[in-house]
Amino acid sequence: GDGRVEVVAGPMFAGKTEELVRRVHRAQIARQRVLVVAHELDTRSGAGRVRSHSGLEAASRTVAAAGDIPRLVEPGTTLLAVDEAQFFGADLVDVLVGLADAGLVVVAAGLSVTFDGRPFSPLPELMAVAESVTKLTAVCTVCGRDAAYHVRLAGGVPAVGDPLAPTAAHVGGAETYEARCRRHRAS
Ligand code: ADP
Ligand code: MG
Repeated sequence: GDGRVEVVAGPMFAGKTEELVRRVHRAQIARQRVLVVAHELDTRSGAGRVRSHSGLEAASRTVAAAGDIPRLVEPGTTLLAVDEAQFFGADLVDVLVGLADAGLVVVAAGLSVTFDGRPFSPLPELMAVAESVTKLTAVCTVCGRDAAYHVRLAGGVPAVGDPLAPTAAHVGGAETYEARCRRHRAS
């Protein structure tokens, strides 16, 4: 069928949500039935929508776990868009692969790295099984180079090696996180 998995990955501020919303809007212009899903841990956008840092929005359903997604897919839905995919954990891979096998175009956007610079599951696993991977960079806040990382600032300096790094307790916005290039992620 036409099912496929498309991944949009990168650090914070890379434009992942902008790209996700762009694909959603294109499908809506084509009169496709679209389902946009956000995780309940994503409290930045407000319930019922995904929102980019630049203000682009799309209406969304909020779920607590990957296993809640399939029952939200109404007959005739052709595009499933999932934002902040890293919040869903490893369960998301089988769920999205199953829906793509069933014929949906699935777009998953999420962080490919934790703020201490490690691969952030399940984005690496999703990238491995996807037909398409769009890897985006942000702009380094120190030097303007391409930023493949982001850091969490504590007292103005990057908090590297924080043992709490990959947990959902760290849901923040522009005030505590900055995009950084390879050179400036540690200082
Ligand atoms: P993501 O979903 O990857 O966190 P968004 O799509 O929400 O990113 O936001 C991308 C937008 O963030 C950019 O178009 C730009 O307006 C804004 N922005 C703010 N800081 C930066 C930065 N350091 N690098 C790139 N874009 C930034
Ligand atoms: Mg985003």
